[in-house]
Amino acid sequence: MKEDFEVIIIGGSYAGLSAAMSLGRALRNVLVIDSAEPCNRQTPYSHNLITHDGQTPASIANEARQ
Ligand SMILES: Cc1cc2nc3c(=O)[nH]c(=O)nc-3n(C[C@H](O)[C@H](O)[C@H](O)COP(=O)(O)OP(=O)(O)OC[C@H]3O[C@@H](n4cnc5c(N)ncnc54)[C@H](O)[C@@H]3O)c2cc1C
Repeated sequence: MKEDFEVIIIGGSYAGLSAAMSLGRALRNVLVIDSAEPCNRQTPYSHNLITHDGQTPASIANEARQ
């Protein structure tokens, strides 16, 4: 099955998912390609990230993907 996309985002962590959310809300057809190696993958939990303090980076990204 062939599908056309208006935007392809390389990198599906916080920045890429934020861009995808904005573009989706603008009714753009978006593809996110991600190799799942975010820069913060070694850190046990987040600090000073409002509403997400103490969560793991993976749980924040999973919530964003939902
Ligand atoms: C050790 C550490 C601890 C941190 N702790 C905190 C904290 O406590 N609080 C806080 O607010 N911030 C913290 N940060 C900062 C925060 O993690 C970064 O600002 C944030 O992750 C940047 O998001 P990003 O989407 O730009 O990049 P990333 O999260 O690094 O995501 C980039 C994504 O792109 C993918 N990618 C890259 N190249 C390709 C390719 N060619 N093809 C496909 N996919 C690709 C990668 O696999 C990855 O999933 C920390 C950072 C580090 C390194």
